[in-house]
Amino acid sequence: MSEIINQKVRDLVPYDPIEGEYRIRLDANESFLPAPLPPDGMKTVEAAVSRTAWNRYPDPLAREVCAAFAGFYGVPEEYLTACNGSDESIFLLFSAFLMKGDAFLTLAPDFSMYRFYGEIVEGEGVCLPKREDLSIDVDAVIRTVREKDVKLVIFSNPCNPTSLGLDRGEVRRLIREVEALVVLDEAYMDFWDQSLLHEVGEYENLVILRTCSKAIGLASLRLGFCVANPALTRIIRAVKSPYNSNTLTQAIGAQVLAQKEQLRENIRRLVQAREELYQGMEALREASAAFHLYESCTNFVFLKFYREQEAGELHAYLLENSIAVRLFPGGYLRITAGSPEENAELLRVMESYWQRGQGK
Ligand code: PMP
Repeated sequence: MSEIINQKVRDLVPYDPIEGEYRIRLDANESFLPAPLPPDGMKTVEAAVSRTAWNRYPDPLAREVCAAFAGFYGVPEEYLTACNGSDESIFLLFSAFLMKGDAFLTLAPDFSMYRFYGEIVEGEGVCLPKREDLSIDVDAVIRTVREKDVKLVIFSNPCNPTSLGLDRGEVRRLIREVEALVVLDEAYMDFWDQSLLHEVGEYENLVILRTCSKAIGLASLRLGFCVANPALTRIIRAVKSPYNSNTLTQAIGAQVLAQKEQLRENIRRLVQAREELYQGMEALREASAAFHLYESCTNFVFLKFYREQEAGELHAYLLENSIAVRLFPGGYLRITAGSPEENAELLRVMESYWQRGQGK
């Protein structure tokens, strides 16, 4: 039996999101707003469900939902491949563009799944630490790609977990100066204004990832898109499994992406909630002198505790109060912006943590 379990999977453990029930969930960067539905609400969704031919496979090219995405973001449909969440897109890109033993570059800290998928396809992971302030040194990235003969570079912009953004001038420079494929994960770009979506067709070596799990409010449906020039898109479509995006996801995703005004309004509310959380956190930072607060271009905030242990203590205290946030090694907390009420409650509980003298 043991011979069939190879080295690359032997020590893997299934992904285990936070366990238990919490009254406030600020740990997964989801939207606190439900995705907008057409004006007649569930009726259209129910009609889509009742129209579904359950015995038939979905549209392999997911045309309807790609057209809706193209309409909302203003990109050509020929540039799009719908995927079962960005997680699938990432796996797909590694499978398509990396040969066994090829070097791929990730930055640290960044979204942890990049490394994981790269290793599953037996790429050679090269990891470049970010600067002390967690910003990206583009010159170092370019240098490393050249020196290590990197075939694929992947990073998130704005970044999960740091919440920082890299200006698009710098991203352009990176793409132009490397010969590798650049996978630019814009999962949080709806909250910032430095997207390269509208120029993706100008690059031979760029794939942009977008997801409906964050600003669009559809984490449950699993819907993401690879956006790239037609030559790259042809390969991505050819490598993906034929029916990766299911019929219901396509139908409901298309309805939601057609609600342009409502989506824009939701994004505005999410950014405002982030801003309120940020301001509240800034006040706590000043009062407690316990942590550094990073600028945020996303729907979450990122904190570094001067006393590393304190991040863990506060995390436990929040869980005791039924509030889930995400703890990262090295004394960091990542906290998603919730509804105004949830943010106010979080800040109140955090304040009580220091008032109880636990932070000493
Ligand atoms: N990229 C980044 C940077 C993310 O933060 C996440 C979700 N946490 C994903 C990709 C995966 O998103 P999806 O739900 O579309 O699989």
